[in-house]
Amino acid sequence: MLETKRATDPGDVHGTDEELERGDPTRRRKLRCPKCAWEPKETDVWACVCFCVWNTFLTAGVCPACGRQWSDTQCHRCGEWSPHLAWYEDGADDA
Ligand SMILES: [Zn+2]
Ligand SMILES: [Zn+2]
Repeated sequence: MLETKRATDPGDVHGTDEELERGDPTRRRKLRCPKCAWEPKETDVWACVCFCVWNTFLTAGVCPACGRQWSDTQCHRCGEWSPHLAWYEDGADDA
């Protein structure tokens, strides 16, 4: 059947959005500051009030140490706070 084609051909990604999202959300979704268009990388990290430092986009704004949900994310370049979801270029499409 079609089973031999699964997960073997990187060019054939139709209908596999769930797998991609689970593996690496930053690869599928483009991130950028809503205010200045700065694009954070995987190596950029944020600090929680509990002093945990991690990439907030890998956990959707949840601190892995204390579990705090950060609904806003601060830009490293312009210093402005924006709603976490607004950073996802294809995730805040209410127009
Ligand atoms: Zn910014
Ligand atoms: Zn924390």
